[in-house]
Amino acid sequence: MPLPQFVTDIADRSDLMMKTLQKWAHINSSSDNLTGLEEMGACLAKAFEETGGTVSVLPSKPMPVILQNGAEAVQKIGPIIQIVKRPTANKRILLCGHMDTVFPTTSPFQFCKFQPDGRLNGPGVADMKGGILVMLNALLAFEKSDEASQIGWEVLINSDEEIGSFGSAHQLAESGNRAHVGLLFEPSLADGTLAGARKGSGNFTVTAEGKAAHAGRDHHLGRNAIAALAKVITQLDQLTGGREGLTVNVGEISGGGALNVVPDLAQCRFNVRLKEVDDGVWLTATIQAILAKISKEHEVELTLGGSFSRPPKPMTPDLEKLFKLAFKCGAELGLSMSANPTGGCCDGNNLAATGLPNIDTLGVRGGNIHSDREFMIPESLVERSQLSALILHKLATSEFSFFGEDRS
Ligand SMILES: [Zn+2]
Repeated sequence: MPLPQFVTDIADRSDLMMKTLQKWAHINSSSDNLTGLEEMGACLAKAFEETGGTVSVLPSKPMPVILQNGAEAVQKIGPIIQIVKRPTANKRILLCGHMDTVFPTTSPFQFCKFQPDGRLNGPGVADMKGGILVMLNALLAFEKSDEASQIGWEVLINSDEEIGSFGSAHQLAESGNRAHVGLLFEPSLADGTLAGARKGSGNFTVTAEGKAAHAGRDHHLGRNAIAALAKVITQLDQLTGGREGLTVNVGEISGGGALNVVPDLAQCRFNVRLKEVDDGVWLTATIQAILAKISKEHEVELTLGGSFSRPPKPMTPDLEKLFKLAFKCGAELGLSMSANPTGGCCDGNNLAATGLPNIDTLGVRGGNIHSDREFMIPESLVERSQLSALILHKLATSEFSFFGEDRS
């Protein structure tokens, strides 16, 4: 069957897409760069006007953080861009993306360049400014189809996905609750493989508070926070594999100062990935027991902070149906597609927690994300926009049990 014209026409926008992508990538929008995020947000709000949807700029919630001295503070989070069209339609799709990147304003990685193999290297070109462009072009194409009126859609683009989406979680939950299907635009692998089931994730802190003393004269009076924390860290590390698929990664340590002082403060931060919600309960209890024991031995106060920000995203029967539909659309474009489980997680986890079946790697094909070798494959801009336009169209013209369900 020939492809509908609203799908084939996307190819005409190829050059424009590449130009826009480079323009967007040159705006630094790291999760903590509020000015950059506002500039990026304004750019996106303008670009999405073309869809005819109602564009709003929504505030994020500030995120509580624990400073290196153990004190609590809050971090401001950039805006959320929301675009809504036909919100009262019987079939409602939520399309999500994030405009933040992991590259700080001080990073030397700020510009795009073409690699000798033709791939575009640049900050956020795959993760996920390229994906936002795919989303936009899929919507623009779908809106030209006769079946567009069958679907109501909402776009959410947040500013804090790379730091756990604390500030936008309430909005993801609210919008997720009123939709029937979620489409997210994280990059697929370079060969086009999508992410299936995903692990859950959480970020934690252990703060050790001992007692300062002169290292020579009064060493016995001091309580060394670093020594106690070191013991904690080795035991945290050993929790990896304690449940199937569970990993604990201590990624940062700080503490101490002058070498002639027994240090009274030290801290480590770590990330946890898990397959089952129950594993989190087991892990938290195990860590508390470790802290209690070491705290007693060393007479150092040990406090666990942080939480799980993203629950695991399992492969459900509804999600299987969605993948089947996506693969069918891929086949119409001549793509052979597959999905694999991954340890990575994203806002698709948050949406799955609201019960929303969602495919989360519909963005460009790319790789080496979160590094200065990040690349995207230029032809995937058109290819993946066509794929998502077809998915939207297929959703508009098919019946699924998850449609019509009142989830609000
Ligand atoms: Zn991403």
